[in-house]
Amino acid sequence: MSTDIITPDDLKKMDPVFGQLSFDNHEQIVFCNDKDTGLKAIIGIHNTVLGPALGGTRMWQYDNEWEALNDVLRLSRGMTYKSAITGLNLGGGKAVIIGDAKTQKTPELMRKFGEFVHSLSGNYITAEDVGMETADMDLVREVTPYVTGISESKGGSGNPSPITAYGVFMGMKAAAKYKFGSDVLEDKKVIVQGIGHVGESLVEHLTNEGAKVIISDINQARLEEVSKKYNATIYTGSDIYSEDVDIYAPCALGAVINDDTIHKIKAKVIAGAANNQLAVEAVHGKILQERGIVYAPDFLINAGGIINVYAELEGYDKKEIMRKTENIYNTTLEILANADTNGITTNQAALNIAQERIDTRKKENSK
Ligand code: NAD
Repeated sequence: MSTDIITPDDLKKMDPVFGQLSFDNHEQIVFCNDKDTGLKAIIGIHNTVLGPALGGTRMWQYDNEWEALNDVLRLSRGMTYKSAITGLNLGGGKAVIIGDAKTQKTPELMRKFGEFVHSLSGNYITAEDVGMETADMDLVREVTPYVTGISESKGGSGNPSPITAYGVFMGMKAAAKYKFGSDVLEDKKVIVQGIGHVGESLVEHLTNEGAKVIISDINQARLEEVSKKYNATIYTGSDIYSEDVDIYAPCALGAVINDDTIHKIKAKVIAGAANNQLAVEAVHGKILQERGIVYAPDFLINAGGIINVYAELEGYDKKEIMRKTENIYNTTLEILANADTNGITTNQAALNIAQERIDTRKKENSK
């Protein structure tokens, strides 16, 4: 294409990184490429005011690079607010590896990714996310200390998912208390979308409490396994959003609350583990508020995992991990009340409190 036909307006439209819709003053975005292992990854460091940017690595077969970039920008920003609202001294970061975790993940690729993480000298600390296992973090640990969520046998905190699920359960109970007047979930109809690491553990908590659990997943074998184990009902309809349930727990991927789904949702409470559930926070958060659906902000209630891995850095024990995770119940109640009092969405209420903490620290740091 000849440059003389590109207008300034065209250039504006083409801003490939800083002009992205999901770009939110991220401090650093690192593109990692290695021909030999086939590694193509993006590390996003959103904010390091409260501490080093900690967040998991996701491996996913994105349709295109824009989608991967958009994901890492959104996810890393989410981590900043997650750690801030949870009271941890951590910043927000995340990484995505472009590819199929089942067929393209090799030990060499994971080690090479670790080398890129190491090159950031601790400004970014990685962990597990979708498409990753504890064993992958062990491989990263071979080349860098800037990784959490490694095996317990290697001195790590192990799989964070059960703690994440416990935090989601706590947040769900608090949201139920707010909406239904009681946090007892017995006989409540709950649909869990995605029964992976976190989803299965959430199903366990829910069935232990006597909730009527419906499960949905794209993986049929998993559905059968989890259904058998917990006596949960497999969803067989064609549109889970319009299912008449009390609680909807998104535990698969993000942006599930969007223009196509939001008006169909019959659940009275939304509380799940997936990151970035609201496709457009301000728009979809507002519609939920108007429809009287209590939304427990994802980044608040799914913080159990980061509380767990933070223990690796701070050296606190399991008891303290559980105490901090249980506290998600109280924080959720505070946020829901704050949103009501101020007439704002629950997501905005949580963001405001997290931002206040970051701003205060920034002022202190500059003194
Ligand atoms: P996972 O990969 O173990 O499980 C995801 C599950 O969702 C899989 O079973 C997959 O088949 C299913 N799935 C994918 N697309 C689906 C669809 N369209 N409909 C229904 N099911 C679908 O991941 P995980 O570790 O359980 O994490 C789940 C979510 O929670 C992710 O969004 C992750 O970012 C978030 N999260 C996880 C942790 C953690 O500790 N693992 C912490 C915070 C947030």
